[in-house]
Amino acid sequence: MTAGASARKLVISLHDATPFHLDRLRKAEAVFLELGISKITYLLVPEYHGGYPSAGHPGFPGFCREARPFAVDWHLHGYHHLESPPQGEAAGGGLDGLKRRFMTAGEGEFLALDPQAQRRKLEDGRDSFRRCLGTDPLGFVAPAWLFNAALPPLLREMGFRYTEDHRRMYRVDTGARLESPVITWATRTFLRKYGSLIVCPALARIWAKAPVLRVAMHPFDFDHPSTVASIKSVLRGLMPGREQAFSSDLDFSPGGAS
Ligand SMILES: [Zn+2]
Repeated sequence: MTAGASARKLVISLHDATPFHLDRLRKAEAVFLELGISKITYLLVPEYHGGYPSAGHPGFPGFCREARPFAVDWHLHGYHHLESPPQGEAAGGGLDGLKRRFMTAGEGEFLALDPQAQRRKLEDGRDSFRRCLGTDPLGFVAPAWLFNAALPPLLREMGFRYTEDHRRMYRVDTGARLESPVITWATRTFLRKYGSLIVCPALARIWAKAPVLRVAMHPFDFDHPSTVASIKSVLRGLMPGREQAFSSDLDFSPGGAS
């Protein structure tokens, strides 16, 4: 591996850390160990689908604080990870609402929320994050990477530094952005699951020269042996040529994609 500022970076993440997925998170960690991952970002959901409070679970805060043989950077990830019922026009009912639900399985939690509702979820989420980890989150990732223009100013005001969508990572305090495509597997339907097994390795080849590449995994991936095999193969292909990084390791300065 070429070390140093100019090396290509690999940002690996595990989404949807919640007590609901605790067994799957353990399975995922066995894979991270086997692969020799050294740095990984975990995304904490404060109250998954409204029924699984992370901070109130007897074992989950302990899981969050466990010592691990690899470094973990925790970010906040939505609040319920589920869209609230549509509220009037702002929620984008009708065809837009249907489309959104179809595309995100109702997980575009922050997309249609007004600033006040976003602020409440961020404040409650930060509180849960503190109770689980004893620190404030510096990164926030909206579920399904979907958000509206109200989110970045709110994050900045609340002291967050990093967020991201499908295409880029952002410094919310400076407004800087970094092109960083993401490879992620789907398991929700038969077609998407088998599609991912072809698409994900192809994307790794297409984006081979991208200065910053993200690989995002989800707990449900670890229910599917063929998906796990694909994850392992893609990461084994990428890891030797790239330096593993957290958001805080990346150079967001203009032109500084390294
Ligand atoms: Zn998620």
